[in-house]
Amino acid sequence: MGKVDKGVKCMAKDCGNLAERSLSAEQVSKSSIRIEGNARRIYLCHEHYKQWKKETKKARELEHLAY
Ligand SMILES: [Zn+2]
Repeated sequence: MGKVDKGVKCMAKDCGNLAERSLSAEQVSKSSIRIEGNARRIYLCHEHYKQWKKETKKARELEHLAY
């Protein structure tokens, strides 16, 4: 998780925005965001990162409670 180099594109399907965040493929697979290809590191734009955060909020809270 962290900052992304300039010029990297969002990897969500049909999205060509500049990426802002990187996540692991496993993290992204827990959301409804579909990715082009099968990279281990997924780059997301602002909008898709927001969507990912929203969709995984519940799951991440549960994960957190499990510890
Ligand atoms: Zn995007």
